[in-house]
Amino acid sequence: MRTHRIAAIPGDGIGPEVIAAGLEVLVACAASDGGFRVEVEHFDWNSDNYLRRGHYIPEGGIDRLKSFDAIFFGAVGSLDVADHVSLWGLRLPIAQGLDQYANVRPARLLPGVTSPLRAGDAVDWVIVRENSEGEYAGHGGRAHRGLPIEVGTETAVFTRAGVERIHRFAFELARQRPRKLLTLVTKSNAQRFGMVMWDEIFFEVARDFPDVKTDRELVDAATTRMVLKPGSIDVMVATNLHADILSDLAAALSGSLGIGATANLNPERRFPSMFEPIHGSAFDIAGRGIANPIATFWTAAMMLEHLGETTCARRLMAAIEATTGAGIHTPDLGGQATTRAVTAAVCDALRR
Ligand code: ATP
Repeated sequence: MRTHRIAAIPGDGIGPEVIAAGLEVLVACAASDGGFRVEVEHFDWNSDNYLRRGHYIPEGGIDRLKSFDAIFFGAVGSLDVADHVSLWGLRLPIAQGLDQYANVRPARLLPGVTSPLRAGDAVDWVIVRENSEGEYAGHGGRAHRGLPIEVGTETAVFTRAGVERIHRFAFELARQRPRKLLTLVTKSNAQRFGMVMWDEIFFEVARDFPDVKTDRELVDAATTRMVLKPGSIDVMVATNLHADILSDLAAALSGSLGIGATANLNPERRFPSMFEPIHGSAFDIAGRGIANPIATFWTAAMMLEHLGETTCARRLMAAIEATTGAGIHTPDLGGQATTRAVTAAVCDALRR
């Protein structure tokens, strides 16, 4: 029997609700498969505990995570803690500390789900987001605070090593998809240093992937192409900030933010990778039992795939699709089902 050790970090808001649902589905997957089991350890790293303890991650916390096979993450963000404090206190130190440099975000219209786009059926994309540097490198500062001459800088940092490895990862991923099309997303007209280097390295790497077709788009034009010509896109590679924005748009175009899943990968597997829904803590619906757990189930399927349980990952995706296809939808998708009802339906579909 194979054992996969999972570190669960439910976090804030609806995070605990969707992670509980996700773990229930993972256990159902393992039971229906029979070849593996999941061993879960919970970490109470969240904003309430930050306010009590003064830290999100205790001393040595990142090292503790290194002994797990994967991390299952809910959401971080609270009305009582500034967003930059919570993000830099929990999610970013994990992603950066474990060198999860490739953030993969699939978007596809699931059966039974309505897209706000007329041509929503054509949404079938993967966004590859650089996850270790760029605009979120944490480089910058403030000076002359409160004075009329106050200054704040936020410097995007691009390194050849960082850019090359994400482009290479995106080409490998595009190569495995039927259409083998990779779109370079950039802003190298206005940003003429880091972004021009980003483009140059893309075309250098492209030489090693003659079977992958490429094109390029400025990030602003990429938003309109996603809306107006969704079928012309397959895989996109973009910087930390650009892909962050594009993937919320992608999730909305595929029906709801409650569907968008993501994997923060350390492709070389030196460290565990982290799997999470792309949505945040959604305070407006927290505690009401109506959070859509589909994003969390989808990311659980990505986790199973990463752990080598590919048959089970496919079965979980099929169970998700059977549930959305049967119209069992939470309110964000126009339905009335609760988180519990959707979870039960997916578990039932797994048992069938
Ligand atoms: P973050 O910046 O941390 O990503 P955010 O400010 O973008 O968070 P979210 O918390 O993701 O905001 O919520 C945005 C909107 O989407 C809210 O109205 C929320 O209720 C809705 N939403 C997000 N996730 C879900 C979900 N799983 N199910 C239903 N609605 C959701």
